[in-house]
Amino acid sequence: MKFRFQFRRYCLPVRVPIRTAYGVWTERAGLLVRLEDENRRVGLGEAAPIPEFGTETVDEDEAGARALGEWTHADAIAALPPRLACLRNALTAARGEIEAARRSEDPERSVEDNAPYLPLAALIPAGKLALAQIPPRSEIGFRVFKWKVGVGDIADELGLFDDVCAALPSGAKLRLDANGAWDRRRAERWLERCADRPVEFVEQPVAADARGAMDLLLGLAGDYPTPLALDESLIGEGDVERWIGAGWPGVYVVKPSLLGDVAGALARLEKAKAAVVFSSALETAVGARAALRAAFAWNPSTDSTSSPQAGSGQAAVRRAAGFGVWPLFADGRFDGPTAMPFIRREDVERIDAEAAWNALS
Ligand code: MG
Repeated sequence: MKFRFQFRRYCLPVRVPIRTAYGVWTERAGLLVRLEDENRRVGLGEAAPIPEFGTETVDEDEAGARALGEWTHADAIAALPPRLACLRNALTAARGEIEAARRSEDPERSVEDNAPYLPLAALIPAGKLALAQIPPRSEIGFRVFKWKVGVGDIADELGLFDDVCAALPSGAKLRLDANGAWDRRRAERWLERCADRPVEFVEQPVAADARGAMDLLLGLAGDYPTPLALDESLIGEGDVERWIGAGWPGVYVVKPSLLGDVAGALARLEKAKAAVVFSSALETAVGARAALRAAFAWNPSTDSTSSPQAGSGQAAVRRAAGFGVWPLFADGRFDGPTAMPFIRREDVERIDAEAAWNALS
């Protein structure tokens, strides 16, 4: 099958700079891609790499996109170098949309989703700014909050930690994301403090590329009661298999936009009955729509990290998806639906990806 291929590069200022352990983000860069088949069916996708996470760069994706030329086909997409995972992701999503459009012309088709809606986690800013952001988000119904740590001084952040916990509405959970900023000692100090706090999990306490990272993470996961989550550790080719093989007892944070083979990774995680949290890569509405479709299609199994004694009668756990990130961009045409503690399937389909594409012309 032949496709007409176009791409547009973007560099979009965010509304409010985002501070993480990697530094301050003031803009987001990537590519939107568009495929059109011979019957004028159109599919859109997005390559939104994060080199700090270990992905390729936007320049590499752009060079890969140029090399594909104006017309491309399934074999050329499949033959993209594994390094260009985000570009492959974009083209696979665009092809998937064309396939879905083709199937929807068949009246016999049936859509399969595993959830009517997904709960979302709200991203709150690093440092003291978090305190002002929790009440308005609690007000509209958010009950899971993600706080970036490892950004400032550890003593300051630990000092703030109790204030942040106290600001949470009752029954709410906090996710801490260190983005790999800590060494073993800092991670231990935090995990000791987390033990009797409402912390759902601590994400990537030490760097994915730290020496002995796998043993270190497995050791920390075994030594403390608060579950740990992998995020940056899952970006490279084969990472998901490696961690499943190692018997990772914690959570897998899946940013579908950063995976070259989303379907393959999710199939392996489902087979392993892994605890999965879907998460935004701070991509535009185009990539977010594809990522959220993957989250809706996910079939959660009994989640052993949240209920250690889970038996066969235990209900499956659907954890809040890390997509409470909008409004994100200075230009709202690139945002998904804003400020919602839940997202419904129809909200996802209502995301106007075409408008984002057209906004770049
Ligand atoms: Mg993370």
